[in-house]
Amino acid sequence: LGGPEPGPQHRIRVCVRKRPLNPREAGLQDFDVVTVPCRGVVVVHEARQRLDLSRYLESQTFRFDHAFDESVPNELVYRHTAQPLVESIFRGGMATCFAYGQTGSGKTHTMVGDLSAKGQGCPKGIYTLAAQDVFCWLREPSYEQLELQVYGAFFEIYGGKVYDLLNWRNRLKVLEDGKQQIQVVGLQEEEVSCVEDVMKLIEMGNRCRTSGQTSANTHSSRSHAIFQIILRKRGKLHGKFSLIDLAGNERGADTGSADRRTRLEGAAINKSLLALKECIRALGRNKAHTPFRASKLTQVLRDSFIGENSCTCMIATISPGMRSCEHTLNTLRYANRVKEL
Ligand code: ADP
Ligand code: MG
Repeated sequence: LGGPEPGPQHRIRVCVRKRPLNPREAGLQDFDVVTVPCRGVVVVHEARQRLDLSRYLESQTFRFDHAFDESVPNELVYRHTAQPLVESIFRGGMATCFAYGQTGSGKTHTMVGDLSAKGQGCPKGIYTLAAQDVFCWLREPSYEQLELQVYGAFFEIYGGKVYDLLNWRNRLKVLEDGKQQIQVVGLQEEEVSCVEDVMKLIEMGNRCRTSGQTSANTHSSRSHAIFQIILRKRGKLHGKFSLIDLAGNERGADTGSADRRTRLEGAAINKSLLALKECIRALGRNKAHTPFRASKLTQVLRDSFIGENSCTCMIATISPGMRSCEHTLNTLRYANRVKEL
């Protein structure tokens, strides 16, 4: 099992993934302004207007642990992001992987994959790819002897409230006990014994996430979906992998909306994404000062921030088009801040 860990230490990897320009954007005469010239580097070529109203291109360069261009499939993104974290949960760790970005930039494509396309060629998402590896590690002799059970849980945070996606969107309460342990009371955990079981849970939860909603994408762009693979040893928590498809980060615009509900939702999303950044930045520093209480999202992920043996990776997803340039730059700036630990 390797030697003892060299003390409390937190690792965060920050990666960026660019998606291809889609036919709708091409139809609108949008064009690709993002390049990934080499491993880890993203360049945004931004069109600016001069005082004399002529246009010029200004490029901004960002560096990350990894940058993936539009030709890279989910499997390869997985291999450089979540996969290296899977084994840590067998050693009692808390692993976390986030997809962060504008609506339509590829968060769900990356995390959940394409569930509608059945059969060959349908891209598996990181939820499924991670589950596959969990079952591989489970059969490793050194881990097999631990006799661990594997469970799946799937919930969403919408407007600052928590709903169970494996139990008819049952509203869940989040409680903190005297010892600062956070509990999502009544969260359904389903025991799973193979990757097909996990895929069924993902499908079920996803149907629950979008059912009864007027527009599937409007709803999912406003909610954080959290899928957890939980390892238990005789009922006791051993390790946990939280895989998160975050709400669209462009919601700042909603805070000026006339519609009260939209405005409140936008404010809740902003608050949680800000809290997330602050919690990640507090990692590896004084854990007593991790501001996890600032939002529901960071509260339910407390273990991931406070644990001695936790690791995190973030996948910032970006759209390539000129029309998305401002959002793309915002995403890259946020990712940059997260990286500067
Ligand atoms: P988000 O969840 O961030 O709102 P989606 O994952 O739903 O965005 O992606 C929007 C659309 O773009 C979907 O139709 C999706 O299949 C497509 N897409 C996203 N990323 C990629 C990619 N890397 N390669 C091909 N298609 C992609
Ligand atoms: Mg989505």
